Amino acid sequence: MDSKICKIFFFYKRLLRNMNYSRFLTAVSMARRPSPIRILTELQQRSPPSLISLAGGAPNPNTFPFHSATIQMKNGETVLFDETMMKRALQYSGSSGIPELVSWMKLLQMRLHDPPTAAYSPERGQMELCVTTGSQEGLCKVFEMLVSPGDNVLLDAPTYSGTLAAVQPLGCNIINVPSDQYGMIPDALRDILARWDPADEQKPGSSVPRVLYTIPNGGNPTGASMTAERKQKVYELAQNYDFLIIEDDPYYFLQFQKPWAPTFLSMDVDGRVIRTDSFSKILSSGLRIGFVTGPKPLVDRLVLHIQASTMHTSTFTQLMVSQLLQVWGQEGFLKHIDSVVEFYRAQRDAMLSSADKWLKDVAEWHAPAAGMFLWIKLKGIKDTQKLIMEKALEKEVLLVPGGVFQIHSSEACPYVRAAFSLSTPQQIDEAFKRLSTLIKEAL
Ligand code: PMP
Repeated sequence: MDSKICKIFFFYKRLLRNMNYSRFLTAVSMARRPSPIRILTELQQRSPPSLISLAGGAPNPNTFPFHSATIQMKNGETVLFDETMMKRALQYSGSSGIPELVSWMKLLQMRLHDPPTAAYSPERGQMELCVTTGSQEGLCKVFEMLVSPGDNVLLDAPTYSGTLAAVQPLGCNIINVPSDQYGMIPDALRDILARWDPADEQKPGSSVPRVLYTIPNGGNPTGASMTAERKQKVYELAQNYDFLIIEDDPYYFLQFQKPWAPTFLSMDVDGRVIRTDSFSKILSSGLRIGFVTGPKPLVDRLVLHIQASTMHTSTFTQLMVSQLLQVWGQEGFLKHIDSVVEFYRAQRDAMLSSADKWLKDVAEWHAPAAGMFLWIKLKGIKDTQKLIMEKALEKEVLLVPGGVFQIHSSEACPYVRAAFSLSTPQQIDEAFKRLSTLIKEAL
């Protein structure tokens, strides 16, 4: 179905549903209270310079040793931190992110995803966005906000080990939803959900899952990308059973073909999608800039979790990125993405041709349509853990054994994850030659 028609169809289908967000929140999240000091900081950030504030406990930046900085860009442009800017960069700032970065990113989200919730009534959750210290912080806090002990949580299987690290300690019951090279399989999800009655969703104590987590593009570790049709089917299931979708999409900008796939956010007529984005793979992983976009009631609550922990993402790195984005504009940003994608596409192709050369007889894989990972199944090897952690090191080649991406990491897994992000094509070729010898010796 044409995506515009889809949106209209779902809008009318759900016309009577207003989201009851409080039913999704954990006791920890409900107990979070706005910090009065943080509110004052936000207020101060938006006030004219004539405001005299004796309120906050901010230190005086005149006592800091840094004066100014000029950051030279590779293309000859500069990002300038003059004295005034530097003082701001070194100071506390609001918990949802510096206003100019938040606005810039909101406009980009509107352009890329055109979220239906941005246009509808507040009851439907209106789109909101906040900056996080990498998308990992966003994810961790989203889980803390939504996942209570004993909850059933739906997760791509296998999945990113950082997600498991964030969600497993919460004491929930993780339900693996099988996936293939096109991501999560909606029919498998439907079968899993069939054990519940959708009508039970709102009943107190109901065990109907309230959260589904997925990596829709260039999955980590599988490299899988979900088709628009699959997303639509998963979204319909979310509507039937009234659960939220956490769309963790750090590889969205690393898609190797255009047009980029429609996102869950772009289909979200109800306000049930929380999307995490990351600048780690495209601008810098060390700057730690990520974003959470979703229904305002949920993002506003998430900010309370930020207030109580990191307080805010580094003002310095936010300003650095924000200044760069102002210089580039959306077009410059997207042009930069194109060049990053070109690099990773060439790397992927190099890895695929080395895999063809060395691993054809001993392994299987699917070409990833996004991201930086190749998920390789070793033929005739039941579990890759020992092979990689002991024998591969002897041969001086390092990969990640697939087990670390399973809920039960000790369960046998015949896969390894190979990243094509850092090594040169020559190194990749040599690594696969060594891997092929290793597999043959093991068989
Ligand atoms: N989600 C996934 C699927 C990832 O692969 C990563 C990084 N490896 C993250 C989240 C976290 O990324 P960051 O915090 O650097 O934005």
